Amino acid sequence: MSGRSDTADVVVVGGGPAGLATAAEAARGGLRVVVCERSHAIGEPVRTSGGSFIKPLKRLGVPSSCWHPVHRIRVVGPSTEVVKTYRRPVGCVLDVRRTYQWLGAQAVDAGAEIRLKAQVEGLLEHDGRVRGVRTRDPFRGPHELTSHVVVDASGHTGFLARGAGLRPGNERSAVGLEVELRATGYDHDEAIFWLGDDIAPGGYGWAFPCGEERVRLGVGVLRPDSVAEPRALLDRLLDEFRTRIGPASPASAIEMHSGLMPVIPPRATQLVGRGLVVVGDAAGQGSTLLGEGIRYAIEAGRFAGRSLVEAGGDFTPHGLASYPRAWRRHTRRDMTISYAVNKRIANYHDEDWDRAIRRLDRLTATQAARVFASDFSPRWALGVLLTDPALVRDLARHVIGRGRS
Ligand SMILES: Cc1cc2nc3c(=O)[nH]c(=O)nc-3n(C[C@H](O)[C@H](O)[C@H](O)COP(=O)(O)OP(=O)(O)OC[C@H]3O[C@@H](n4cnc5c(N)ncnc54)[C@H](O)[C@@H]3O)c2cc1C
Repeated sequence: MSGRSDTADVVVVGGGPAGLATAAEAARGGLRVVVCERSHAIGEPVRTSGGSFIKPLKRLGVPSSCWHPVHRIRVVGPSTEVVKTYRRPVGCVLDVRRTYQWLGAQAVDAGAEIRLKAQVEGLLEHDGRVRGVRTRDPFRGPHELTSHVVVDASGHTGFLARGAGLRPGNERSAVGLEVELRATGYDHDEAIFWLGDDIAPGGYGWAFPCGEERVRLGVGVLRPDSVAEPRALLDRLLDEFRTRIGPASPASAIEMHSGLMPVIPPRATQLVGRGLVVVGDAAGQGSTLLGEGIRYAIEAGRFAGRSLVEAGGDFTPHGLASYPRAWRRHTRRDMTISYAVNKRIANYHDEDWDRAIRRLDRLTATQAARVFASDFSPRWALGVLLTDPALVRDLARHVIGRGRS
């Protein structure tokens, strides 16, 4: 191998929200952290729609300049439609580039080094434990970057964790394709979800306004549950969108985004191994209900980074145990329910969607927002028990059913 080698306490593979949040927290705690990102810039290319929720983002300290608030959520089914209105917005659409660059700045300010166009090719191992990575970048060429611990934050592939046997392969994935349109005639206070066999069998279509008269229009389907081709679906959705805003209103693409998100059971990944930590999509930590992962990636990264500091150099599953503990305590209920519902709705057809939308109609705006946000707290369940007891019973049945399978 040519090139020189260098060293860090922590090498983070991937400069997405999970990797950057981990890096910031670990560097803040005094560890020397290097982030290797294969792309030429943080936040590029955009692979995600950025739909999120204001309260949890505020709790994570993400500045409000990073999102566009949404006052109405419309769900359009095959023959039903429901609108929930929020005087004080709960949902929002992130400026993904700005948010990831803000996370990058946080990591740098804390003392982490970010290396761009730095492709990681594999792990360095010695005596059964991880000792760094093999990587290449334009300044150093191919080289070995040694470290006491490696964080796999590589997103959908989770290739290092998979290679180390910490997680299964992506048996199921959500595949998404969207265009960011300039569309002045669209109501930029409103986000739309489309459901049904025509728009996205076993998935959904969306219109997410993201500020500056732009809207992200996309479709996502589950593989292998659905064989539908996202390009054809998006084409159809564009027609539907143009009809909605009126044929005289201009709408054309400014950007195109696509990507994959893993759909794996919440407890399928071992989050820590000997000298290896897995975080974000690499660990399947997003909510599989609507395919929302950004705020979870940030949260998980913070837990992981804190744990790296608290480990005091003991980068074994024992030394790093606080990370999986914190993550599970924080998300187990919501992730388990979201996954059970995901499995169920992957087989939904038009009549099921219409029924589900009529159900959603019975919920208050706040209760519905909690469903969108995968927040199934006991308080939510108690409230819903009064408005739609059968829904709580059904959810319990799905989750218990999964538990037995
Ligand atoms: C189409 C689509 C729409 C989505 N919509 C939403 C949404 O509306 N809201 C939401 O919250 N979430 C959404 N998600 C999910 C969200 O994008 C992910 O959950 C989130 O990006 C996970 O962050 P991460 O840091 O774990 O992974 P990523 O954001 O994927 O970051 C991984 C990083 O690792 C880098 N990398 C990979 N391999 C290497 C390597 N070998 N060497 C160096 N670097 C490497 C990549 O370049 C990338 O920058 C969507 C996903 C898709 C695909």
